[in-house]
Amino acid sequence: KKYLYLFTEGDATMRELLGGKGANLAEMTKVGLPVPQGFTISTEACTQYYEDGRQINDEIQAQIMEYITKMEEINGKKFGDLKNPLLVSVRSGARASMPGMMDTILNLGLNDEVVEAMIAGNSDPKFARFVYDSYRRFIQMYSDVVMEVGKKYFEQLIDEMKAKKGVTYDVELTAEDLKELAGQFKAEYKSKIGEDFPADPKEQLMGAVKAVFRSWDNPRANVYRRDNDIPYSWGTAVNVMPMVFGNLNDNSGTGVAFTRDPATGENKLMGEFLVNAQGEDVVAGVRTPMPISQMKDQFPEAYAEFEKVCSLLEKHYRDMQDMEFTVENGKLYMLQCRNGKRTAQAALKIACDLVDEGMRTEEEAVSMIDPRNLDTLLHPQFDAAALKKAEPIGKGLGASPGAACGKIVFTAEDAEKWAERGEKVVLVRLETSPEDITGMKSAQGILTVRGGMTSHAAVVARGMGKCCVSGCGEIAMDEENKKFELAGKTFKEGDFISIDGTTGRIYDGLIPTVDAKIAGEFGRIMAWADKYRKLHVRTNADTPADARKARELGAEGIGLCRTEHMFFEPERIAAFREMICSDTVEEREAALNKILPYQQSDFEKLYEALEGYPVCIRFLDPPLHEFVPTNDEEIKQLADAQGKSVETIRNIIASLHEFNPMMGHRGCRLAVTYPEIAKMQTKAVIRAAINTQKAHPDWHIRPEIMIPLVCEVKELKFVKKVVIETADAEIANAGAALEYEVGTMIEIPRAALTADEIAAEADFFCFGTNDLTQMTFGFSRDDAGKFLSAYYDTKIFENDPFAKLDQTGVGKLMKMAIELGRPVNPKLHVGICGEHGGDPSSVEFCHKIGLDYVSCSPFRVPIARLAAAQAAI
Ligand code: ADP
Ligand code: MG
Ligand code: MG
Repeated sequence: KKYLYLFTEGDATMRELLGGKGANLAEMTKVGLPVPQGFTISTEACTQYYEDGRQINDEIQAQIMEYITKMEEINGKKFGDLKNPLLVSVRSGARASMPGMMDTILNLGLNDEVVEAMIAGNSDPKFARFVYDSYRRFIQMYSDVVMEVGKKYFEQLIDEMKAKKGVTYDVELTAEDLKELAGQFKAEYKSKIGEDFPADPKEQLMGAVKAVFRSWDNPRANVYRRDNDIPYSWGTAVNVMPMVFGNLNDNSGTGVAFTRDPATGENKLMGEFLVNAQGEDVVAGVRTPMPISQMKDQFPEAYAEFEKVCSLLEKHYRDMQDMEFTVENGKLYMLQCRNGKRTAQAALKIACDLVDEGMRTEEEAVSMIDPRNLDTLLHPQFDAAALKKAEPIGKGLGASPGAACGKIVFTAEDAEKWAERGEKVVLVRLETSPEDITGMKSAQGILTVRGGMTSHAAVVARGMGKCCVSGCGEIAMDEENKKFELAGKTFKEGDFISIDGTTGRIYDGLIPTVDAKIAGEFGRIMAWADKYRKLHVRTNADTPADARKARELGAEGIGLCRTEHMFFEPERIAAFREMICSDTVEEREAALNKILPYQQSDFEKLYEALEGYPVCIRFLDPPLHEFVPTNDEEIKQLADAQGKSVETIRNIIASLHEFNPMMGHRGCRLAVTYPEIAKMQTKAVIRAAINTQKAHPDWHIRPEIMIPLVCEVKELKFVKKVVIETADAEIANAGAALEYEVGTMIEIPRAALTADEIAAEADFFCFGTNDLTQMTFGFSRDDAGKFLSAYYDTKIFENDPFAKLDQTGVGKLMKMAIELGRPVNPKLHVGICGEHGGDPSSVEFCHKIGLDYVSCSPFRVPIARLAAAQAAI
């Protein structure tokens, strides 16, 4: 089997095999761009490595040797050669880009002999410095990435050396210093590993390839994959290519650029360049680089060529490009290109601009937006008035837009810990590194002292849709003592700070935030999405405020109104508790009658908010013990209200105890035991509908009543009879003409299995995939957190089935229910109202199996609209 490909053997369509980086290196080669010529080890080699128990088998090893020879011939250089040594980089590249998740090794092929030969062959004294610098970098990266020695030991040695020499930057270290450092690094390696640093380039290469394969399974990568829906089974490719040296001299450098601004989407070349430096330096924020526009003055020819490359690549890929390049002795080399990561704001603008520029169709523009990204646009922004009044105390780069305020923390662990206990935090660091990812996720925003727009913090924050201000050099940081100084003030852990990821401004204290709106480009894209989608999008809303918000965000109805949430207000809960503690039907009805007017007015407000769009109301679902009082005072109150003894009440409460409430006395089981409850809720729904219809004759009000937790058609029949008798009496009484529907949730596997029987009695099905998931898996949503992480670690699960619909199991039940139900009742309409209704991949699945609508929380409505359009396109 062929596992290896020269860059000349591939192209952009071979992404699955070559990974994104490899496929694009091949494509750039194909269109004639200056790319150092190497080869790609396919993703299949990676999966084979894992199948072979984390070994590179003989067949693949042999192919690697063969391709090394080919690469040597193409480049006229040889591994370990003393006249013309070949040095390479070893780079990971998965199918989907996983920035910063995998580790790269540069300058591989160096050893003592090669280093000395190289220096001997060049009389320029600066050249020796360059060689030693490359060597110490290589030892450092190899030790860290391949042998996992840990960066910090080497950084310590560098810091000690700088201190000894009294210099600030690593460029100020001399050839002699770097030579000494390289020696110290090797000693460090030996002391940690117990062996000499490998001198044979081929051995070095095998080690590096293995390390890249291994890095596919590191914890950071696993977290990133879970967050981004990337399957573990894909594996990563490895790219091996000759080095070009941005750290050769002052006529060299390295840079990262975007063809359009990744923060705003503005159509202008954006990027950073660092003279006399190697790739990682720009990203790592070692020194603050210069804006790409300045590169023009110092490197006119390379810059002119780079501009040409940019426009060529953008036209070729018809999308904004993110490029890595290096200038060696004035000559430009392209090292990477890909469709650039961008903020949600930029994504919308770029998609619209590409349509206006005639490069993309509307459908393509809709497909270009990652629905999950929209989330950030729906998050609050700083209140404009409050912001105007606020006095900025400092400014960094607006690296990832949005507003964030919270308490200052200094480490990723603290960010996680504090967030867990419900605190809003802003993570302030010198710079971030991949270990900080989970902490960054927990923070409201990230503020760094060092690093540019392409630093780790900036790139990762943009990917997460997290607000980030980077490179605020004015901050005098004291990470060790958890404090910093800015604008003459000392900030300590726990102090409040606000940051604006759009402008880069930093404010003392808390600035209030306001909700975002759908307008401008966002509005254009959403209008296109609505044009192409087939699925309707409803919302889960229990209050008129939620319902109005959801309407604003484009909801076309309520798919789930949880009535019980309305019972918790003080006047109502008292009456509801009386209902629970009643002995007779009469007592119960008296208590329910107190609640009826509240429910009716709630429903009227919901109908108003929905302006004639459908409203689906689910009848009481949770077990009754969730409503009973727990403290003495309330128990006493309840006893007095009912003229019962405290002891009686306590006994009733105790009798409601269940061992497994989730599978207990809840859902339609409540309506079977206490039909009065269903009667009261029916009255409230029907009366509200009649009133609203009267007030708005042009609306078509058609209430949907949803019976939860049905597992047997006779249950539904029983409750439905109560509903119909009550509803028809109400309608007749009012002399109104009102149609209504009675349907059920499909959330118990048995309901899905007997959906043909149930469909005969139901006007609609709504998949309650939260319960359906827990009942199908047999574990509860509230307890699963305790063991799911072990399931991720062991790869038994790749995702949380409560967040991403389990299409294989739960999805099969859904499909079966639809296939059984529709033939029996051709008018049956079908929706989903679990958490999954707002998850893009689940929405796609719902489209595929022919649902009529998805229903999700208000802020997810735009996400679902877009995902539905993408599923249809
Ligand atoms: P990442 O995926 O984290 O960006 P890369 O594989 O792109 O990692 O490599 C990291 C850095 O190393 C890049 O900035 C790139 O410029 C530099 N680099 C990679 N290969 C070479 C090479 N052959 N010559 C010079 N620099 C390189
Ligand atoms: Mg890169
Ligand atoms: Mg349920």
